[in-house]
Amino acid sequence: MRLAAISDVHSNLAALEAVLADIKGRKVRRKVFLGDAVGYGPDPDEVTALIASECRTGAVAGNHDWGAIGLTDVSFFNTAARTAIEWTSKSITQKTGDTLRGWPLTKKLRRDGILLVHSTPVEPADWDYLFSAEQAAGFFDTFKERICLVGHSHVPFIAELSPSGDVFSYKDEAELVDGCRYIMNVGSVGQPRDGDPRAAYALFDDGKVSIVRVEYDIKATQDRMSAVGLPESLIERIAVGH
Ligand code: ZN
Repeated sequence: MRLAAISDVHSNLAALEAVLADIKGRKVRRKVFLGDAVGYGPDPDEVTALIASECRTGAVAGNHDWGAIGLTDVSFFNTAARTAIEWTSKSITQKTGDTLRGWPLTKKLRRDGILLVHSTPVEPADWDYLFSAEQAAGFFDTFKERICLVGHSHVPFIAELSPSGDVFSYKDEAELVDGCRYIMNVGSVGQPRDGDPRAAYALFDDGKVSIVRVEYDIKATQDRMSAVGLPESLIERIAVGH
């Protein structure tokens, strides 16, 4: 299985382009998307179109995607996130709205034994967060596939369930062991929150999964955010990675 998994791009075009170039450089063709194309950032139309054309193996919607098209209540968002999602709702084209509306909340890749979901496999539209392998341990009996890929918290981790029921935690690299099952958070392309501002994605290759970090032109995205008038706190946080 050779596959790249990206998530939480949040309208950050420079970060998405850098990640797609890195994936292309590794000659990995199959790409999946775990939700939140839009929100926080300055280029929702371009980012959504690029994800739709590149991630043809599978794509699901996130809470910001649903928020932008009125499918989820954004009163739960913090002030800056809500300001950005309201700007997004007003600025996106009809075509972008149609693309976001077309993504399901979960997607099964039967051939690969993979479940894609933005938040958790339990009631995905409740938008609960998985931050760690320890927390994910309680979710293995809530889906049937061998691997569940999530995003949403912007903090990557790999949880491995052994046949004996033990759960092991890996930060950014793990062998895929026969008989073991996995829950992985692939991190965020456009707004990492683990203290590393580089874009993150997950790469499956050669029986192993790794979280890849990619440098991109953060200043270019910050300048675009200023130009369209997005909140200062959102502009600052992408440079520090949380
Ligand atoms: Zn997100």
